Amino acid sequence: IIGPAPTTEQGVALVKEYQSQGIVVTLVGGIIDQIDEAGVKTSEELRILPIGRNINSVAHVVSIAVRTAMIFGNVAPGAAQENLDYNMHRVRAFVNAFAPITEEIVSYGAGVIAFGFPVITDNYDFKVPKSLVVQPNVEEFNATSLEARDIKIKITKVDIPVSFASSFEGEIIRRGDMQVEFDGSRMDCCEPVQTRELSEVNDHEITIIGKDIDEMPVGSKNQIVYVLEVAGKSMQEDFEPVFERKFHSYLNCVEGMMHTGQRDMIRIRISKDTFNAGFRLKDIGEVLYSQVKNEFDAVVDKCAVKIYADPEECTRLRHEVAIPLFNKRDERLATMTDEKVGVYYSCIMCQAFSPSHVCIVTPERLGLCGAVSWFDAKATYELDPNGPCQVVTKEKPIDERIGEYEDVNEVVRKLSQGALEDVSLYSIMEKPMTSCGCFECICGIEPFSNGVCIANREYAGQTPLGMTFSELASMTGGGVQTPGFMGHGKHFIGSKKFMKAEGGVARIVWLPKDLKEQVAANLNKTAKELYGIDNFTDMIADETITTDPEELVAWLT
Ligand code: SF4
Repeated sequence: IIGPAPTTEQGVALVKEYQSQGIVVTLVGGIIDQIDEAGVKTSEELRILPIGRNINSVAHVVSIAVRTAMIFGNVAPGAAQENLDYNMHRVRAFVNAFAPITEEIVSYGAGVIAFGFPVITDNYDFKVPKSLVVQPNVEEFNATSLEARDIKIKITKVDIPVSFASSFEGEIIRRGDMQVEFDGSRMDCCEPVQTRELSEVNDHEITIIGKDIDEMPVGSKNQIVYVLEVAGKSMQEDFEPVFERKFHSYLNCVEGMMHTGQRDMIRIRISKDTFNAGFRLKDIGEVLYSQVKNEFDAVVDKCAVKIYADPEECTRLRHEVAIPLFNKRDERLATMTDEKVGVYYSCIMCQAFSPSHVCIVTPERLGLCGAVSWFDAKATYELDPNGPCQVVTKEKPIDERIGEYEDVNEVVRKLSQGALEDVSLYSIMEKPMTSCGCFECICGIEPFSNGVCIANREYAGQTPLGMTFSELASMTGGGVQTPGFMGHGKHFIGSKKFMKAEGGVARIVWLPKDLKEQVAANLNKTAKELYGIDNFTDMIADETITTDPEELVAWLT
């Protein structure tokens, strides 16, 4: 946008309109002062970039276009015509230039038009069909620009008091900026979806049970449970976890809201600015309702949201409804093995936070968030064949010991945009799978015992690795391979494929007590089947025994 707009309000409205459509906006000239004056935040993450007040700053934007052709289009440096052609056909950029258009602006505009980027202006003096488009009504700049580049965007209006756009995904809300927090690792929280009969659901009904945000102390930690009730002729229970996993990206699109985790291990922060703009619990319901109805309209005819902030109800729902539901889903996988299926699935839902992270989901290794099993990934693919989960064949094994396949490597290379070369499915030391930040647990090799220690997100204490879960997370996440450390789901601990390349579950020497109790049944069963050992978890230390590595060795021996 080359400014200034006729009024600050018109300039801000135009910028925010593009932002809500996920379009990157670069600003040149007086529009920058208008945006500043209105207090609109700008950054790369928010996709609003002030470039410079002088018109010659346009050159920096053109430079991005030139580099785009070289980086993504493999156009050689110096191949000018090829570069222009690439931009014309592949880069859907355009310019909005507010009157008055000076001769200097015209000369820059001519250069931009050579790239195939049309200029839309409210200046009446010039007109070049399809290239210099006159739109006297500034409110119509957005629609005219999208039409000029044949850009079609499917947008659902979300009726909340703050912006809703993918550009807010990845926004971090610091403790000092937060109005309230909902923390599933310390309190009872969960976000289950439940399928109901059509007659049981009143479409778009949003119910709040308990206190609203304005009755919660500033900076406090609270419980929250939101139950999404859905009904539809083609709805299947298999789709429930797919919807649940999408809540993460839906809620992160809210300006000033941060959501991490899944199932009953969620954490949500709402910023003071967002609260002051009028955001309340019912708005969480509005977001979930509108997005589920929009994205899954093929299977969801009716949808209602119940939001519980009442502590007793949250505890009841988590323990009596959600956990049994999650356990039931996990049990379906109990009889399946990686060898019995013809394909695995990739998942890139977490690339908003970790751009190079790719999970490969198999029957015996669920996604590291613990919320995407092989069945869930399959259902996600069936609901949206172009979506975040894709089929991965496993026809070209390279090394079955560590679970490495040429087909899997090809997918990982492509989906990580070349950041990752190869991954193994069953090793923590050789080409381990990457971790985003959503892991339920982190395991790490403990050098004194040469065993492996595991910490889960809920465990806040020290581990024999000399680090807490948070400290381990800061070195394991980010979509990079860190041999010796790996993020994973809780369910994976009892899998026969857990660290198979390094000897399997027998290498586990330390677990937090609560986690040990949660995984005992599966883990003991696996140890019995693999090694003939009874009550294997009795041989694993926990924090009540020691967190010191030397004492751990003494206890083990
Ligand atoms: S952690 Fe993995 S499986 Fe889970 S949502 Fe993220 S990418 Fe998908």
